[in-house]
Amino acid sequence: MEEYDIIIIGAGPGGLTAGLYAGRQGTKTLILDKGLTGGAGLMVPSMENYPGFDLIAGMSLIPKMKAQTEKNAEIHEMEGVESIDRIDNGFILKTTKDEYFAKSIIIATGATHRKLEVPGEDHYNGFGVSYCATCDGLLYKDKDILMIGGGNSALQEAIFLNNVGCNVTVVHRRDEFRAEKYLQNKLKEKGIPVIWNSVVEEIKGSQMVESVILSNIKDNSKQELKVQGIFIAIGDVPSSELAKELGVNVNKYNQIITDKTQRTNVENVYAIGDVTGGVKQWVVACGEGAIAATYAYQDLEQTKKRE
Ligand code: NAP
Repeated sequence: MEEYDIIIIGAGPGGLTAGLYAGRQGTKTLILDKGLTGGAGLMVPSMENYPGFDLIAGMSLIPKMKAQTEKNAEIHEMEGVESIDRIDNGFILKTTKDEYFAKSIIIATGATHRKLEVPGEDHYNGFGVSYCATCDGLLYKDKDILMIGGGNSALQEAIFLNNVGCNVTVVHRRDEFRAEKYLQNKLKEKGIPVIWNSVVEEIKGSQMVESVILSNIKDNSKQELKVQGIFIAIGDVPSSELAKELGVNVNKYNQIITDKTQRTNVENVYAIGDVTGGVKQWVVACGEGAIAATYAYQDLEQTKKRE
């Protein structure tokens, strides 16, 4: 069984940064990801708040990060972790392909899309229902579509959809957005219409989505809108199952609890990025990755000195 000092689960921006820092400390480091390097980060259409770049897409930045990290750590893509067992001096990780030993683990598993949980959502997933504007947006050029949500993701993706020529309308359950002001201003500048105080009750169609029933939460009125697509960006659910099985403490939202050093309650297990909640930004995940790798290295050195 191949042995590592540090195994990082998740190759998003945080995991890649942790790998960069861990490798540069001279630790033997492996990053495992069940998908491609970058994960959901690849789908970010544009960022205006990643230092050093006025505007950059996830798809452009991830390969640069990957190339830099690969000089310092191994990255295994398409290799999901199925279980982690604690043993005396570390952990055994069973993956979809192999088995590894790690002295320390950094959990950077991110989060998945939250669902609306309404009739039609699962049925039309991939047939008019989408959670990824970057992936599917072009399919809806010149078509009438809805974007559900009022956070940064919803507005960012609505602007992207408008840019690629979709007739997008935003639907939000309240009368004000949660998204940052610069995105709200951009939405206004683009003239993207908004339906306020409304939630989706049902998604209807035949082969593909044909309409959506909206309910106004103020006056309970209902309307059926003829649309060809519905994009959903209503937040996320932390991917903390593996961590919980390992005995790592989570809060009521299932986000992993860490201290300022990114240590969890389980010795030699650290967590970073969206799976820990907080300010879900690339720079934060990257910063946490650097912190976790630094303390993981220090903790390993302390253990060595004690032995
Ligand atoms: P979010 O900030 O949690 O916003 C989710 C939005 O969906 C909220 O407006 C919420 O409404 C709405 N919502 C939640 N459940 C709903 C439901 N069942 N039906 C209808 N609407 C529902 O999620 P996000 O926009 O995906 O962002 C996730 C994190 O990533 C945030 O921390 C965000 O700041 C960050 N992010 C940052 C950037 C950036 O910096 N440019 C870009 C993307 C994401 P309420 O407002 O009423 O709660």
